[in-house]
Amino acid sequence: MTDELVLRAPDNFHVHLRREPMLSLVARATTDVYRRALVMPNTDPPILDADDLVIYRDEIIHATPADFVPLMTIKLTDATTPAVIDAARVAGAVAGKVYPSGVTTGSYGGVSEFGAGSLIDVFMAMRDCGMVLCVHAEMPGVTWSVAEQSFIDDIIPDWIAYVPDLKLVVEHVSSSSAVALVKMAPDTVAATVTPMHLTLTDDDILGYRNHRGRRGLNPHNFCYPMPKTDYDRHTIREAVASGSPKFFAGDDSAPHRYQDKEAPCGCAGVFCAPASLPTYAEVFDELGCLDKLDDFAGRFGAEFYGLPLNEGTIRLVRPVGDAGIVPHYLTSPGRSQSVRCWRAGERLGWIVAREAP
Ligand SMILES: [Zn+2]
Repeated sequence: MTDELVLRAPDNFHVHLRREPMLSLVARATTDVYRRALVMPNTDPPILDADDLVIYRDEIIHATPADFVPLMTIKLTDATTPAVIDAARVAGAVAGKVYPSGVTTGSYGGVSEFGAGSLIDVFMAMRDCGMVLCVHAEMPGVTWSVAEQSFIDDIIPDWIAYVPDLKLVVEHVSSSSAVALVKMAPDTVAATVTPMHLTLTDDDILGYRNHRGRRGLNPHNFCYPMPKTDYDRHTIREAVASGSPKFFAGDDSAPHRYQDKEAPCGCAGVFCAPASLPTYAEVFDELGCLDKLDDFAGRFGAEFYGLPLNEGTIRLVRPVGDAGIVPHYLTSPGRSQSVRCWRAGERLGWIVAREAP
């Protein structure tokens, strides 16, 4: 049994760092592990153009260590134009994100028309200036269990056909349909994979069993797109185990104050950052492909985005004693913000040690 893993300093191609004061509370859980992270733009207020991006990037740089590199994005809306894209690219945007309006946290005011027309002009501008299109692929108005399949079947193939060579990432794949599309699509189409979708099914949210065997709702496993069936999870696990460069790490760590999750209309989003790389390692270990984790977390995403590979390494070890137990909450000094950690109280199979020499 391997007791130590040395990986290239990893990248995380999907994370929500939020704005202050949440930003300062949660960022470290990501920056302790990941050298770069693609920062989602659905903040409050959102990141819609170059000016927003510059302000937000300064906020992040102020709150994070000097060796962390935030990879910036803008949120596409019905009002986004090719000129907005070009200016955002010059300001450093590496991707634009489509949230179909109303499907998840911070998606309001997102895109409401997916057909040809103005959106296609925006996509062409993105392709021409080298920006990646990131998609939350769930169809508004369609029930959660088939919303991703519906978007994958009805929208994405047209986009691929209308704007060939546009780099497109199906974010947080959750269904066998999404995995199949990404596998069959040209090399310009890839997917991020979260630790939740590699380990959970809908039963871990709607029919969760606690340590006493009681069954009920677990809002802290709840994210959009919802984890689905065992078969869906199996196809996602198979995709990463295959070593295909189209599937790479993007943990979708998405903190909310715990009161906002334990609520009548609880927020979607899981604060997985404290457990994300260890969970990926556990899954690759279970699948017998630990040798593929390095590329999944440190190579494939960077190559897809056309970024240089990170220098340096990170070391994972099997924890001893209580070292591997996930804390229950992260709480800000004034207690104004308290976030429940994903897998709170569980013992991780791997933990991040110091940098290898
Ligand atoms: Zn997300």
